[in-house]
Amino acid sequence: MPELPEVETVSQGLQRHALGRRILAVEVRHPGVIVGSAEEFAAEVEGRAIISVQRKGKALALELSAQGQLPRYLLVRLGMTGQFTVSVRDAPLEPHTHLLLALGERDELRFRDVRRFGRLRCCTHEELEAAFARLGPDAQQMTEEQFLNALRGRRGAIKSWLMNQQLLAGLGNIYADESLFVARIHPLAQPARISPRKARRLFRAVRKVLDHAVKLQGTSFRDYVDIQGRPGSYEPRLRVYQRTGEPCRRCGRPIRRLVIAGRSSHFCPRCQPRPGYVARMRGTRH
Ligand SMILES: [Zn+2]
Repeated sequence: MPELPEVETVSQGLQRHALGRRILAVEVRHPGVIVGSAEEFAAEVEGRAIISVQRKGKALALELSAQGQLPRYLLVRLGMTGQFTVSVRDAPLEPHTHLLLALGERDELRFRDVRRFGRLRCCTHEELEAAFARLGPDAQQMTEEQFLNALRGRRGAIKSWLMNQQLLAGLGNIYADESLFVARIHPLAQPARISPRKARRLFRAVRKVLDHAVKLQGTSFRDYVDIQGRPGSYEPRLRVYQRTGEPCRRCGRPIRRLVIAGRSSHFCPRCQPRPGYVARMRGTRH
């Protein structure tokens, strides 16, 4: 599923290709991806110009302006397989295209989503603020102090903590696993029991992994592509994610997989040693 680097890549693509353009027509082909009434959505969005693109965590918001009216925001969650692409209007439609926004006379912004977990909502400034307020600080923007404070007193697995969007917005399974490897922290370590030194290391690891992935336009698992339909190029750089059994790039030990809260975690049992307080799992050696 698209995480911060993929959503940031889409955001940058929208800034390059959609900013300043007017939405001349709206066609909702599958109302299930629209929050609320599709007719109202189309009526609200049509005729407005896209004047800014914002991102917080994995959420995107396009600011839509119309003369003499209050701004509206197109709040987008890409879900598992949501894609935005800009095409010429007469280009053939790919299957699973659910929304078409005509940008000027020639181009079209298209939303495609195979799994249909993505959602688009037209909202007011207050509604956007409320939606963004439900998210923790953006993982690429947060300060070290915010990060360390958020760890304090937290139980459970650090892996789940990193993926909790109310505490830290932007990380999913891929970049949480990668950040823990870089910081050399076991995915079952407890946030509150991570030493300040290691916590700072994790903060820097999250930043480093995200910045690098943004530079390489993200990772293309499932259907992710950028706004021009190109895949990301971070995948060959992955150190642990979906590399179970392959040698650790640092020490050569096979990467292991562990299920935490229903999600796969990938880690190196030597570089990310199990803390003493984490019970050894039956039948495993990590
Ligand atoms: Zn290793």
